[in-house]
Amino acid sequence: MLRITGGKVYDPANGLDGVVREICIDHGKIVEQVAGGRVIDAAGMIVFPGGVDVHTHVAGGALNFARAMTPENQRNATPFLHKEKLRAGIGGPTPTTFATGYLYAGMGYTTVNEAAVPVLSAKHTHEELRDTPIVDKSMCLLMANNEIVLDLLEAGEVERAKHVVGWLIHAAKSWGVKAVNPGGVAAWKWGKNASRMNEVVTGYNSLTPAMIVGGLARICDELGLPHPMHLHCNNLGAPGNIATTLDTMKAVDGARCHLAHLQFHAYGGDEWDTMRSESVQLANYFNEHPNFTADAGAVLFGNAVTITADGPWQHLLYQLTGRKWGNLDVENETGCGIVPYTYKGSNLVNAIQWAVGLELLLLINDPWRMYLTTDHPNGACFWRYPEIIHMLMNADFRREQVAKLPAKALKRTVIAELDREYSLFEIAIVTSAGPARALGMPHKGHLGVGADADVTIYHENPDGELMFRYPRYVIKGGEVVVEEGDLKSSVEGRQFVIEPQFDPAIEDYLRPLFQQYYTMSFENYPVETERVEHPAVTECGKE
Ligand SMILES: [Zn+2]
Repeated sequence: MLRITGGKVYDPANGLDGVVREICIDHGKIVEQVAGGRVIDAAGMIVFPGGVDVHTHVAGGALNFARAMTPENQRNATPFLHKEKLRAGIGGPTPTTFATGYLYAGMGYTTVNEAAVPVLSAKHTHEELRDTPIVDKSMCLLMANNEIVLDLLEAGEVERAKHVVGWLIHAAKSWGVKAVNPGGVAAWKWGKNASRMNEVVTGYNSLTPAMIVGGLARICDELGLPHPMHLHCNNLGAPGNIATTLDTMKAVDGARCHLAHLQFHAYGGDEWDTMRSESVQLANYFNEHPNFTADAGAVLFGNAVTITADGPWQHLLYQLTGRKWGNLDVENETGCGIVPYTYKGSNLVNAIQWAVGLELLLLINDPWRMYLTTDHPNGACFWRYPEIIHMLMNADFRREQVAKLPAKALKRTVIAELDREYSLFEIAIVTSAGPARALGMPHKGHLGVGADADVTIYHENPDGELMFRYPRYVIKGGEVVVEEGDLKSSVEGRQFVIEPQFDPAIEDYLRPLFQQYYTMSFENYPVETERVEHPAVTECGKE
């Protein structure tokens, strides 16, 4: 039992905006009251629901590939190595599993969504998530280049495709569906890409990216998934991609949809020399279409590692930078590319990207629909979120940073004109309440009775970066893991899993396709429940 007294509570889902109120915890849940137990005096502190990361990359084959490709990062030990009961880990842009859990919890985050998992790698991903302590986890499954799904969408067999998607979610023990560069990764297997929404995908007769986007968004809605289709649009990172992004939003056709790392999809111009921000145009369209949520995918200057299922984009990035490049093709399902990258303030393109991420966070007016991410480790590492929070909360500090940009970048962006400052209430929305709602996790992102007892307590400080980098206490599932600003202990997390409804006869359809096309037998493909860490299963789609 635990009581937190005297702190100012920021709990947007329950309408609490800095109200001094007692928070009581028993058996890992928030309760009305407790008799006895430990008391944490939070006077002079602020109390937030634990952070929820809607889009991050922390586990699985691609991450391991990235860790192996950046041996220089292995020099960055985590600050936890000396601690009793905690495990060793490596930090840097792609921390190892134990370090990932400690670093997230050390920043006050208690739930993370691994945003890109091929079904074929789901076993490996679950094993790494199991090794990622403290935080609760979910994953989204890559579907927009899955050959079985694409063949059905091309044939107009959306109903059967729905059962296949339902079965695949069941087989991988995942939470939702991810679409990455729809059709483009399939085309990449022929050395091509798919950058126009209504152009036929290489290797197909009539299938277009628009058909994939529209079909999958509808399927996610019809399956009743708690989290809508999680979409990485075509043409990521390319100058002029605003047209593709807007065409994609139209192709979604009113269905619910989460747009990942929006920053990478809001560029004007025709080529790198003429690239400019189109955040105003994108934010205006987004503000008027409530079927969308998004995360920022903000960029910070410094070292990052770009990792994405978007194979063709990664090849282009490799050509542009001459840095190391890794390419993974996942048979019949998806691909992946990895390129270490350094964002530089003096580089015009990077400066525009830096500005666009902040602009979208400031121009999209409903914080319940736009969340803080860096598309870790693509735009920056997750443990740098407090730097962004400080810039969102303090317009003067932000202006000082904007003034350092190259003069040319200021002409191509609007960041210098934006005065908005986030309140603590809004920070609690974009880091916790909003993403929990978008993920469809009713027990996360708030401090009402019945919620999971994930609570972060910060010492109030005018410097938002300092305040949010070093929480005073972090409580995960009712256990105090950070005490007096120090990570003291570790707990195991849980894995959130969806069990959708599908026609069991779909297995008779899939089995011969596996026989014909996969190197793995159908029976060995699904993830056994025993591999999943403390699975918390939600059924959906039942009448
Ligand atoms: Zn991502």
